[in-house]
Amino acid sequence: MNGAAGVVAPARAKDLVDPFGRLVGDLRISVTDRCNFRCQYCMPAEGMTWLPRSEILSFEEIERFAQVCVERFGFESIRLTGGEPLVRAHLPRLVERLAGLGVDVALTTNGATLRLHAKPLASAGLSRINISLDSLQRDRFLELTRRDELDRVLDGIDAAIDAGLAPVKINTVMMRGINDDEVVDFARYGRERGVEVRFIEFMPLEAGDVWNADVVVPADEILAAISAEYPTEAVVRANEPAERYRYLDGGGHVGVIASVTKPFCGNCDRVRLTAEGQFRTCLFALDEFDMRSILRSGATGAELDDRLATAVRDAVGTKWAGHSIGQVNFIKPKRTMSQIGG
Ligand code: SAM
Ligand code: SF4
Repeated sequence: MNGAAGVVAPARAKDLVDPFGRLVGDLRISVTDRCNFRCQYCMPAEGMTWLPRSEILSFEEIERFAQVCVERFGFESIRLTGGEPLVRAHLPRLVERLAGLGVDVALTTNGATLRLHAKPLASAGLSRINISLDSLQRDRFLELTRRDELDRVLDGIDAAIDAGLAPVKINTVMMRGINDDEVVDFARYGRERGVEVRFIEFMPLEAGDVWNADVVVPADEILAAISAEYPTEAVVRANEPAERYRYLDGGGHVGVIASVTKPFCGNCDRVRLTAEGQFRTCLFALDEFDMRSILRSGATGAELDDRLATAVRDAVGTKWAGHSIGQVNFIKPKRTMSQIGG
């Protein structure tokens, strides 16, 4: 934080508390709105318009913002996402800068190009990685992502393991009548590969208007299907959205994220920065706070850091208690997951 050291005593994480008493300390940064897939629930097949390059935050701008979050507010973890973060050139350089701040740096990716990127990312300081995969069946994968890339994603998962990234987790969005017949197949795959599969309830952040409560496969139902095949016991829950279970036979762990049926909002410690520098206090937030205009205002040194810190604190002061998915007052955000940064 250029110039700030010794001038303003850095506040600690306890100071960044939202109106509901939750400590905020996890930053999700979208590094691009672009993607090499076109997942049915995330993007239309054609006709996406991308942000012009000039509107996307540079690595320097991202680092500066992250540094304020870490040094002023004690953030402990940063996750890079998108769009598809691996389509952003030179991503390991950003990982290295962020890891240099002393935080845990994680990544969410579709995994298609991980064979190329896993080692450089690990060397740059990436610790954890989540790879999204919604079907283990080639035809279905093609239908869901509109790309015939299942083999490359599976190879990418192996590459992440080979590179020593740990833990490697698989994110699987379950949708009724679409892939819910693969629950046990995914559990088996996770056990065989030594990776933790986390089943996620489908949320109304999709492209188009296909979401309805009937498409959501409740986490309890997913867990029951897994446990019938491979008995599990609950693991004491850390402060994370996933409920985790241990296979009784020592086959590892599995998780469910009940974003819709049992939201984790009461313990949410997350905020997000979109690729063009808009700050959001919830995936489902309707308001955004413009950090890019501050980053590009011409302010430098401690003045810039102070302005960013004030804007972050003000924004966090608007964080709401939680989303109201499925209730009459729910308003779907205008942006999809890929535009917010899932
Ligand atoms: N492209 C990367 C990927 O797919 O992992 C990162 C961005 S993607 C938007 C992040 C995650 O959001 C993916 O795991 C994806 O499955 C999930 N996702 C997208 N739309 C969703 C929805 N409507 N409900 C639940 N998860 C969703
Ligand atoms: Fe791309 Fe991820 Fe959205 Fe699929 S879910 S289209 S991989 S951003």
